[in-house]
Amino acid sequence: MPSLSQRYLAQCDLINRLQGEKRASTAAVNLLAVSKTRPAEEILALYRLGQRDFGENYLQEAIQKQQQLAHVDINWHFIGPIQSNKTRDIARYFSWVHSIDRLKIAQRLDQQRPSNLPPLNACLQVNIDGEQSKSGFKLDELGAAVEALKGLNNLRIRGLMAIPQAGKSVNQQRASFKKLADAKNSLNDQFKLNLDTLSMGMSDDLSSAIAEGATMVRIGTAIFGARRKSTV
Ligand SMILES: *Cc1c(COP(=O)(O)O)cnc(C)c1O
Repeated sequence: MPSLSQRYLAQCDLINRLQGEKRASTAAVNLLAVSKTRPAEEILALYRLGQRDFGENYLQEAIQKQQQLAHVDINWHFIGPIQSNKTRDIARYFSWVHSIDRLKIAQRLDQQRPSNLPPLNACLQVNIDGEQSKSGFKLDELGAAVEALKGLNNLRIRGLMAIPQAGKSVNQQRASFKKLADAKNSLNDQFKLNLDTLSMGMSDDLSSAIAEGATMVRIGTAIFGARRKSTV
């Protein structure tokens, strides 16, 4: 069995290799290590190997680990579903949020971001395959959303995030990721924006996502192994 460090370093190598092979774009692919359900010691072990960005889904669990790791300089990303009553803590304890699925959540995060912190980096989550069971903006709602969020001071919209339907072929995965990439480009053109982030790609569809221009891949299982149950 490979160790955590070995799996982590292998993922870094894989991302570099795919970036070289699969695409012409020079935009870097950043690795977000998805550490939900994993203990603080494992996060610290990756930190010591140079990893700085960690993604969490469960607020109480994340805050507990942030307290345990308060002595190191980690960029915490919130990537889980957001209920309204969670926005205050998310605005306070994270530097990124990837899972904004409706305007009201964005507006609350903006209002609740403490004024001594830099703006909260944000991605709008897109329901890219139009699944009943998934939340997120529809593609044709994004223009209006971006317009509505333009003036906010404490929320910096950086781009789009999606989780495509599971169990698809590589060609279908690529088609979904391409839709997200095209949407980002057309928002930039239409609204004169500089959205620079495509948060897409997980353990099972990493290669497709990188081929279609992902700038941030969210990898859990391939680094940490199968997940434990949430500890909180
Ligand atoms: C859990 C999770 C991931 C990581 O998924 P893996 O398949 O374990 O790599 C990525 N993004 C989101 C939004 C998640 O909830």
